[in-house]
Formats: sequence, structure tokens, C-alpha cells
Amino acid sequence: MKILVATSNPHKLEEIRAIMVDAEAEIISLNDLALEFPEPVEDQDTFEGNAVLKAKYYAERTQMLCMADDSGLEVDILNGEPGVLSARYSGKVGPRKIVDWANNKLLLQKMKGMAPSKRTGRFVCAMALCDPKKDKPLVEVRGTIEGRILTLDECDDVVRPEKGKGDNGFGYDPIFFVPGLGMTTAELTADQKNRVSHRGAAAREMARQLVLIQKTQMGEKK
Ligand code: IMP
Repeated sequence: MKILVATSNPHKLEEIRAIMVDAEAEIISLNDLALEFPEPVEDQDTFEGNAVLKAKYYAERTQMLCMADDSGLEVDILNGEPGVLSARYSGKVGPRKIVDWANNKLLLQKMKGMAPSKRTGRFVCAMALCDPKKDKPLVEVRGTIEGRILTLDECDDVVRPEKGKGDNGFGYDPIFFVPGLGMTTAELTADQKNRVSHRGAAAREMARQLVLIQKTQMGEKK
């Protein structure tokens, strides 16, 4: 079984490969293709919708089994914001770090003065696997990690609270505190984060479902 992962990010690819070892699938990425495709517009209003849209788009164009994900942060008191707009919440464009800080700043501002108990939310990752010959996705899974947004007082730098706490990770990691761990996801190493993260959970469930599909296919061939 050969699967195209709809990413050109080598870190994401390695993470997925490591988690998928038991699925005995050959995992390749967009960088391994001879042709380049324009990126699809992710215009759906759910993470699941965007994951399926991307997986279908690349499956149709390459005629390969294709896996795609969409992820982001949901804050309960903001009715799920920033949600599917997580990457472009503040509207700022530029280098990743600058955009991440602008997003964090906006979120911290919107939640100014709210008590820790009101700051709950989660990172969500939806993953879909599509077969070019089938209309419906073969597999759809969702992984989450629960936490809360830091208060301004809890951030290390009072002048630049958007830098949050911790130097690892990306995006909202420095302001996303996981009570069970007693730290933000930016204070975890990459390995620690993979073990607890929304993306790790979704990828492990995807691997489990792939093994089941392969077993069924082998049973059908006998
Ligand atoms: P993508 O689906 O991986 O491109 O993620 C979309 C956006 O969601 C990112 O640009 C981040 O702002 C946010 N996000 C997703 N996963 C994480 C995470 O693990 N840590 C921090 N932010 C994340």
C-alpha cells in the first residue's frame, strides 16, 4: 500500500512515518512527486471538511491513496474561535514567528481578564484518507488535546505576553497550558509533544484503521 501524505513539511512527514510503522505502508509526500500542484483553497468551516477537501484534491490529481490533515485551536468561551482560521486569525502576513505572535496577541487580548477556569479549549487535528476511485473518504479520524489559554500574568514577558511560556513548538503552543502536565505545549520536547498531541492521537488512530483495512483486504484475497 502506497500513501501520499498531502504535506511538504519534512517534520510532519517523519512524525507520520514513525507513527505509521505498523501499517506497513510506503509513505511519500508532495516533495516526492515529479509534478507540482497548486494548493487547494481550504474554505470549509470544519477541520474535517478541510482535511477531506485536501485529501480528495490530491487523490484525484495523482490517482493515489492520499492522506491529509487540518488542525487548529478551539476556545470554548469564544464559540470555538480561532477554529479553522487558526493560522490566519490576526490577518497578519509574514514570517511564521511574526504571524504566530500576532495570533497569540489577539487571542490574549480577546480573553483579557477572564479567569483560568473560563479559558478552556483544545487543539484539534482531523485526518482523512481518500481513495481516488471512491466518493467517500476511506477513513476519517480526529485527535484532540485539552488545555487552557495562559492568563497575561502567567506569560514570561509582561511586555510581550504573546511569547507565552516555553521555546519549543509553534503557533499557539507558548500560550496553550495543559493542566495535567503543568506546562505549556511549548515547554515539551518534540517527542513528548508527539505522545500527547492532537496530531499524534489522530495519526495513531489512522494507523490503527489502516491495519484493520489491510487485514480485511488480506482476508478478502484468501
Ligand atoms: P495546520 O493545519 O498544521 O496548518 O495548522 C493550522 C494552524 O493551527 C497553525 O498555523 C497553528 O496556528 C495552529 N496549530 C495547529 N496545530 C498546532 C500545534 O500543535 N501547536 C500550536 N498551534 C497549532
